[in-house]
Amino acid sequence: MLYDAIVVGGGYAGQSAALQIARARRNVLVIDSGLRRNRFASHAHGFLSRDGTPPGEIADIARAQLLAYPNVVWVEGRAVSAGGEQDRFEIRMEDGESHVGRRVVLATGVSDTLADVPGLAERWGRAVFHCPYCHGYELESGTIGVLASHPMSVHQAEVVSDWGSTILFTNGVIDPDEDQIASLGRRNVVIETTPVSEIIGDDADIRLEDGRVIELAGLFTVPKTQITCAVAEELGCAISEGMTGPVITVDEMKKTSVVGVFACGDAARMAGSVALAVGDGAMAGAAAHQSLIFG
Ligand SMILES: Cc1cc2nc3c(=O)[nH]c(=O)nc-3n(C[C@H](O)[C@H](O)[C@H](O)COP(=O)(O)OP(=O)(O)OC[C@H]3O[C@@H](n4cnc5c(N)ncnc54)[C@H](O)[C@@H]3O)c2cc1C
Repeated sequence: MLYDAIVVGGGYAGQSAALQIARARRNVLVIDSGLRRNRFASHAHGFLSRDGTPPGEIADIARAQLLAYPNVVWVEGRAVSAGGEQDRFEIRMEDGESHVGRRVVLATGVSDTLADVPGLAERWGRAVFHCPYCHGYELESGTIGVLASHPMSVHQAEVVSDWGSTILFTNGVIDPDEDQIASLGRRNVVIETTPVSEIIGDDADIRLEDGRVIELAGLFTVPKTQITCAVAEELGCAISEGMTGPVITVDEMKKTSVVGVFACGDAARMAGSVALAVGDGAMAGAAAHQSLIFG
């Protein structure tokens, strides 16, 4: 079967793109490996009409509505490689299957790599976060930690301090200069330079190497991000280095550098959210559809 479009990645961006294409009465295949970026969090915040809803529930409602269209096919599995060109792209799956489509929308999201600090990864999405707009309000203005992992950690501490009194744990990763120290001071951010030995407790308290335990309401850190598969690269899409990792280059219509290939969501923007992914997906879906008309 030659699909009008293949959407690789069935998270928020991919489903949103597929919905536009389906509603244009085109045949669309969604390929999804089921590993949404926010699967570690119990609740998603900041998405209009679904604030505080479990992230899986938002995706499940979207999927049920999408699959009500008879021209949508959903395949569970992982796309591992790709080739071809406009009007005949081939997407190859881990299980050896392959699918062909006239257009491709890449919505594969990103994966996060956290600093190698004992106790950090286990608390990701529960008490350790990267985005205060998503999870800052629930910390009830308690004391917030920022665990340095990136030059951007200074900026993160400055922003996060709007949600509660903030301690920046430099942990030997950053060494703020005079201007940064002054700026952090203006935001009342306390700088703690003693290295962190582990993260403990339900709220991500910090045990320092000197034995002190700093009680926190929650902890923020900047993860390194990675595009989750080689499909964009194999299709020849231009990829640039973003603040925390590689990002597929797109224009305002979500076109990549390869004719007939579109990209949306976290894989194609520097800082993402469910709302932004849904918006990007709607644009990519409409653009992919119009390229079927206008080439
Ligand atoms: C801990 C945490 C908490 C968060 N909390 C919030 C929040 O409260 N509110 C908010 O707005 N945002 C939140 N976010 C951000 C949000 O998760 C992302 O911005 C959003 O998921 C991006 O949507 P997406 O569709 O681009 O990618 P994803 O939702 O990550 O979806 C990508 C999909 O593509 C699939 N995929 C990847 N590669 C392949 C492949 N090769 N073949 C087939 N399928 C593939 C994946 O399995 C996944 O299902 C949070 C993020 C994290 C890490």
